[in-house]
Amino acid sequence: MSESISRRSFVATATAAGVAAAAGSSLAFASEKADSAGAGASAGYTPGTYKGESMGAGYVTVEMTFDATSITDVKVDVSGETNFVGAVLGDTFQSAIMDAQSADIDAVATATMTSDAVRRAAAQCIAQATGAKPVEVVDYDKATDEDWLGEEPQVAEDKITETVNTDIVIVGAGNGGTAAAAYAAKNGLDFKLIEKYSSVGETRHWFGAVDSEAAQEAGAAPVDRKKLLSEISRFASGKINQRVVRTWINESADMFSFERSVLEGEMGYGPVAFTSGDASHWPDECNEQNTVYLFPEVEHNYRKAESDAGMQRNEAFAKYVEQQGYEIDFNRGLVKLERDDSGRVTGLIAQDQEDGHYVRYVAAKGVLLACGGYPGNPYMMQQLDPLGASATTAVSYTPRDRGYGIRAAVWAGADMDKESAPMLFDRGLVAPGVDAGYADNPKAFGGKEFPGTVKQYNPGTQPFLKVNRRGERFMNESQPYNDAPYAATNQPGHVYAQICDANVFEDITRFHTVGCSAQSQDQDYLTKQMQTQVDAGLLMKADTLDELADKLGFTGEDKQTFLATVDRYNELFDAQDDEDFGKPSIRLSEIRTAPFYGCWLASSLLTTLQGIKINENMQALDKDAKPIEGLYVCGDNSGSFFANNYPCLMPGLACGRTMTEGIKAVKQMGGLE
Ligand SMILES: Cc1cc2nc3c(=O)[nH]c(=O)nc-3n(C[C@H](O)[C@H](O)[C@H](O)COP(=O)(O)OP(=O)(O)OC[C@H]3O[C@@H](n4cnc5c(N)ncnc54)[C@H](O)[C@@H]3O)c2cc1C
Repeated sequence: MSESISRRSFVATATAAGVAAAAGSSLAFASEKADSAGAGASAGYTPGTYKGESMGAGYVTVEMTFDATSITDVKVDVSGETNFVGAVLGDTFQSAIMDAQSADIDAVATATMTSDAVRRAAAQCIAQATGAKPVEVVDYDKATDEDWLGEEPQVAEDKITETVNTDIVIVGAGNGGTAAAAYAAKNGLDFKLIEKYSSVGETRHWFGAVDSEAAQEAGAAPVDRKKLLSEISRFASGKINQRVVRTWINESADMFSFERSVLEGEMGYGPVAFTSGDASHWPDECNEQNTVYLFPEVEHNYRKAESDAGMQRNEAFAKYVEQQGYEIDFNRGLVKLERDDSGRVTGLIAQDQEDGHYVRYVAAKGVLLACGGYPGNPYMMQQLDPLGASATTAVSYTPRDRGYGIRAAVWAGADMDKESAPMLFDRGLVAPGVDAGYADNPKAFGGKEFPGTVKQYNPGTQPFLKVNRRGERFMNESQPYNDAPYAATNQPGHVYAQICDANVFEDITRFHTVGCSAQSQDQDYLTKQMQTQVDAGLLMKADTLDELADKLGFTGEDKQTFLATVDRYNELFDAQDDEDFGKPSIRLSEIRTAPFYGCWLASSLLTTLQGIKINENMQALDKDAKPIEGLYVCGDNSGSFFANNYPCLMPGLACGRTMTEGIKAVKQMGGLE
C-alpha cells in the first residue's frame, strides 16, 4: 500500500494566481478566476470534457468531465510512469480527485513526481472548465535522439517576475543538497535551497567515510589512505582527478561528525550505525582466491529513529534547515545559469513548477549544483552511455534525475567527463525472452523505458551459477555487482539466468557478500523476496531441472546445454575447484536438491556518475581546466571521481563523497576555510 504524505507548498495550486504549468510541455493555463485547483461549485464550470497533460516520470494525462457544478468523471493515464511506481496508481489518483472534487490532492509518498504531474494536469482541466485562458510558457527541454544537450534556453526578461537575492544558491534537495544546506544553516550563512519537486529527494542509507569517529569508537584500524586513493583511481583506469578523491578521503570524517552532531545531537534522530569487521569483508577465503581487491571499511548507515516514523536523513536535514529559520523553495526547477561578462556565474533562472513564472536567483558568493545524474534521461543515457543502457532491464533510479544540472553547467562553459560511469546492480529481473535495453513507450519521457517491472531483486546479486540463453556459463560470478550485466552485453539479449536450489539460504550465508547485497542473508527477507517473484511468475520454481529448463524457456540444443552446464557446475562444486572460471570455492554451490529456482536478470540502473569536471574545492572547471568562478558542483551532478563503472564493493562511496563534496562547496563559498 502506498502511503500519503502531507503536502508542502501544493496549496499554491489553489491561489489567485493559480496556473498549471507543465515542465516539458509548451502550454499552461492561467486562471483568471480565484481557484483554478477546484472551487468548482462556487466558480461554476462550463460543462464538458477537458484534457490536461504534465510531465512526471513520463507524460501524464488527465481527462475530466464536468457538469455545471461538479466533476463527474476523471480519467488518469499514467502509463508512461515508472512501471512499478507511478504507473500502478491511476485508479488511486482518479478516486482522490473525484473525492476531493479538486486537483488539490495529497501526494503519494512513493510517487511524488507522478503525484505532482497529476495535480498539475488536473489543475489544467479545472482551469479550462472555469474559463481560464491558456498562456505560453517556454519549453526548455529541447533534447533529441541526436542531441542530448540542446541549446541553452532564452528566457525573456518580462517573463522573470521574481528576483531573489542571496549569497549562495543550492540547487537540488537530494543527498548532496540537503547536507550542504544543513551545513550552511548550521553556520548561519545566507543561502537558498531550491528543489524542482514538492519534496526532498530519496535518502541513500549507506554513506562512506574514512576514519570517522564512529570507526574509531568501534576500534577499526586506520584506513590505508594511500592504498585507497590508488584503488579508486585504478578502478577508473586513472581517468579521474585524484585531488577530488583526496578531498573525500581527508574530509569525510568531518562530514560524518557533522551529520551525526546535527541528526543525533541536535535533532535527536539516529543512531548512525557503523559497520566494520567481518560484516564488511568478503570472507578471507574469497580474498585469497579472488583477484578482486576489496576496500569495504567505509560503510556507514543512518537509520531512522523509531520515534520519528518515516523521517529519513534528507527530510531530517530539511527539517533542520527550516528550524534554523530558512525556507526551502520547493517546486522551483533550474532552467539555466547566469554569468556576467567575465564569465563568473552570478546566479540562475528557475521556473516555478506550479504557476510557470520565472525567478531570478542572484547568488553573490556562488551556486552549488546538486541536481543528481542523468539516469532518468533516455536521450543522455543512449548518447552518453549506450553500453550501460544496453545492459539494463530495470529502474532503481529516481526519474527526477535527468541531468538538467549537467546541461546547465555545460551551457555555462563547464567541461564534462568523457567517460560514462553508471551504477549498475545485477538485480534487474525480467521475464524469459525479454531483452535488456530500452523498449519503446510513447508515453514515457524520451519515448523509451526499461522493460523490468521490479525495482531490484536483491538475491539476484548473489554469486550463483549464471548462464546465457544458450545455456552456457560465461563468467566467474563472484565479482562486483556490475560485472555480470557487463559480461552479459557479450551474450544474446544481454540477459542471463541465475540458478540455485533448495539450499539457497545456506549458500547465501556461506557466500557472505557485503553491502546491500547482504540483505539476502536475512532468511525472512530472502523468503519473502523469492515468494513474491514466484507469485509474479518471474522466479521459476520447479521440482526437476528439466522442468526448470522448460520454465526458463530453454528448448532443443540450448536445453541440453543448460542441463550439461548444471552437471558440470556440480562437478566443480564436488572438486571445490572452479577450473573453468576461477571462482573462489566458498562461492561455488551445488544444484541438486529440489525445488530448483531460476530467473532472468540484467542490470537495474541506480544512477550515473559521469558529470561536470571539478577541482578539489568542488569548483566547476572549464575546457582549459580553469575554475569557473561562482560555480560549484557535487554528487552525481559532478564528475572527476569515477569512470567506466562504480566500485560497488566500497559500500556508501557514492553518497559519502556526495555529502562531503556538498559540505566542502559550502565551506568554500561561505569563506569557512
Ligand atoms: C535505489 C538507490 C539506492 C542507492 N543507495 C546508495 C547507498 O546506500 N549508498 C551510496 O553511496 N549511494 C547509493 N545510491 C547512489 C546515490 O544515491 C548517489 O550516488 C548520490 O549520492 C545521490 O546524491 P545527489 O545529491 O547527487 O543526487 P540526488 O540525491 O538524486 O538529488 C538530486 C536532487 O536534485 C533535484 N533536481 C533534479 N533536477 C532539478 C532541477 N532542474 N532543478 C532543481 N532540482 C532538481 C532532484 O529532484 C533531487 O531532489 C543509491 C542510488 C539509488 C537509485
